[in-house]
Amino acid sequence: MSMENGNGSMRRKKWNFLQGNKEVNNNNNGSSAISVRGVYSMMLSNINEEDERDVVRLCRADPTDFPCFRTTQDAPHAIAEAVESFRFNSYAPSGGLFQARRAVADLVSSDFPYKLSPENVFLTVGCTEAINIITTVLARPGANILLPRPGYPQYQARAAFCRLEVRYFDLLPDRGWELDLDSLEALADDNTVAMVLINPSNPCGNVFTYHHLKKVAETAKKLGIFIISDEVYAHLTFGSKPYVAMGAFASIVPIITLGSLSKRWVVPGWRLGWIVTCDPHGILQDIGIVTNIKTYLDITSNPPTFVQAAVPQILEKTKDDFYTKNLNIMKEAAEILYDRCKEIPCLTCPHKPEGTMTAMLKINFSKIEGIVDDVDFCVKLAKEESVVLLPGETVGLKNWIRITYVVDPSALKEGLSRIKSFSLRHAIQLP
Ligand SMILES: *Cc1c(COP(=O)(O)O)cnc(C)c1O
Repeated sequence: MSMENGNGSMRRKKWNFLQGNKEVNNNNNGSSAISVRGVYSMMLSNINEEDERDVVRLCRADPTDFPCFRTTQDAPHAIAEAVESFRFNSYAPSGGLFQARRAVADLVSSDFPYKLSPENVFLTVGCTEAINIITTVLARPGANILLPRPGYPQYQARAAFCRLEVRYFDLLPDRGWELDLDSLEALADDNTVAMVLINPSNPCGNVFTYHHLKKVAETAKKLGIFIISDEVYAHLTFGSKPYVAMGAFASIVPIITLGSLSKRWVVPGWRLGWIVTCDPHGILQDIGIVTNIKTYLDITSNPPTFVQAAVPQILEKTKDDFYTKNLNIMKEAAEILYDRCKEIPCLTCPHKPEGTMTAMLKINFSKIEGIVDDVDFCVKLAKEESVVLLPGETVGLKNWIRITYVVDPSALKEGLSRIKSFSLRHAIQLP
């Protein structure tokens, strides 16, 4: 007798799992609209294959395709040495190799009034994993976290997966993208666990002043929340404002600094990041956050051991001229962007970028027709001009766009000139 007799005698119980998490599927086309990667592949799928011109990718902060942004020679040497020594084929300790943690502690606290120890540093699989770990550790029923708008979508996406409520405070374009501290205060309540600050700021390209950061620290203290400071773009500044590490204010409020090798050393594929607790009063230790981070690190993957082993050499040997050369190209690119934007009637760049690799541009819909919003703008631009931008919606600002201008300057010029043609082609025709 067949078990399957056609009458469904093997009838299945209803799935206990009722429904996918809607928070993370919040768009209509089936792809993930809440990550740069998801939107990037959606945009690439719109490129017209008959267009023989090269695709100009101004969508994500990864300039590794361009020879002018090749990493320092010291970095592959350090990696090769670590691999060839056969000493780093094992699993690494959960927090990371001691010598690498010490090198990161020295790097992060170089300008601090106190010293960080290797125990303050936890190595992660890029800054992305640092975000994932800290968000997961903070999530508990009813808790909320304050995020900047516009911001970096990974925070929101990860929070959605672990059901941590997010609330947004605004960054103000007409104040050089400084925080709206009043709106921040109004958002917080007794269930607010932390706030996130990205400095230098992706996506806005601004650099916060010492004075403003101090005010942010004082506000957080007043609210009883600590600060997660995403400094993946640390030292990547080329305007008049220097980079100030938030950890400098850790005597006011505990700071958890996140960073990685990805941007400054232009090796995003090496997946080496860190979480650093800047907390001279030991508050994060006392409230159990540090133990939670350690426990999490025991159940997750660590960066490859040989990459960790190369960290001290990479950090100590990289010569200043490598950094200076990159900053000079970035500065040149920022000027090209800012100047040429003025020739594109439908776009405004409210603030000349002073750091990072990205800037926000406002779409002026009174100058164009036949385009309904930022996503439509980016899709049509990809189709007609083979230029890929990120719709502002992805970073929380509808009807703006985020542009990554840190590419080879000639590619940037080409991209901007195609955006200009696009803009003129869609310009409102006056009667
Ligand atoms: C690129 C980026 C990250 C991710 O860094 P990885 O080291 O590549 O994982 C995190 N935060 C911000 C603001 C970024 O721009």
